Amino acid sequence: MIDRDRIVQCFLDLVAIDSPSGDEDAIAVELERRLVALGLEVAQDAHGNVLGRLAGDGEPLILSAHMDTVEPGRGIRPAWDGPDIIRSDGTTILGADNKAGCAVVLEVIASVLEDGARHRPIEVAISRGEEIGLVGAANMDYSRLSAKVAIVIDSGGPPTSVQGESPYSFGYRVEVHGKSAHAGLEPEKGIPAITIAAEAVLGMPQGRIDFETTGNVGLITGGTVRNAVPDYCRVDGEMRSMEFEKVDTLVSQAKAHLSDVQGRHPGARIESSFSMGYPGYKLSDDDPAAQLLFGVLRGMGMEPDPHPVGGGTDGNVFRGHGIASVVIGRGGYNQHTKEEYLVIPEMLECARVVEACVRS
Ligand SMILES: [Zn+2]
Repeated sequence: MIDRDRIVQCFLDLVAIDSPSGDEDAIAVELERRLVALGLEVAQDAHGNVLGRLAGDGEPLILSAHMDTVEPGRGIRPAWDGPDIIRSDGTTILGADNKAGCAVVLEVIASVLEDGARHRPIEVAISRGEEIGLVGAANMDYSRLSAKVAIVIDSGGPPTSVQGESPYSFGYRVEVHGKSAHAGLEPEKGIPAITIAAEAVLGMPQGRIDFETTGNVGLITGGTVRNAVPDYCRVDGEMRSMEFEKVDTLVSQAKAHLSDVQGRHPGARIESSFSMGYPGYKLSDDDPAAQLLFGVLRGMGMEPDPHPVGGGTDGNVFRGHGIASVVIGRGGYNQHTKEEYLVIPEMLECARVVEACVRS
């Protein structure tokens, strides 16, 4: 049975181990140790994701969470706010995103092993680097996962809060190669990469394009000193849309714009690359992951509340690898802020729902 004291203690223990993205070694070792203690076959893949396996009956199911947190996430001092809420002390995040997800995975396994009743084979996939662009999921060793359905425990709110729709994300990089020259003595010999990059930037999608489509120029790098015509400038940006066609159109428009800019500056060389960061999805009724989770929720008297989110999770990457994934709420609020808090009864409810999925 899901045990409140045990899962809360596990959560607090995990929160005590700092794990901002890029600094996950200690938490990975601890997660591995706990999974081994529960009797799973566990190993880190080449990227350092923690992958584990527990035998069972029927179709295997992936339980997934990520082990990294955003900053400020070091020296977190969790504090009770009444009997059911845990907050940080206000100087850091709490890290319920996603230590609560990790705690749910561990508690569900502990619970299903206690009574010896039938459960599906469980494949645990705990990623690194989720918060810095789903890096762990992108580099996961999928040869070690056989399940075709995953429950990703990484949404805010109660377990009925399900990510129903998530955007397609494209990243791009534009590099302008110009020519350097002394800015005061012979500027006419130079080709100013920054100025040409500025023309490029002005035609790239920016802000909210429509209700389900966004664009952003996020990073610009170039030049060396004030008094030299810069010979290089680089721009990184992204576009997202719930509809693949819309983001695909934006990519085409951006490419056409860049070729216009190139036409106006034949002496410069503009290179660009566009790549899909992760695929989007809309949960449909015949999706196997949605069927599993929605069936379980309704069986427990809860109505699923699928809603669109503007960001991606490991579930997007899993879908790109043919694994139907749903992202379920685990009781966290105000994620990625120092006001982050965790509602314990909702984390417990999440664990009960995930356990029921494992037993279904
Ligand atoms: Zn998260």
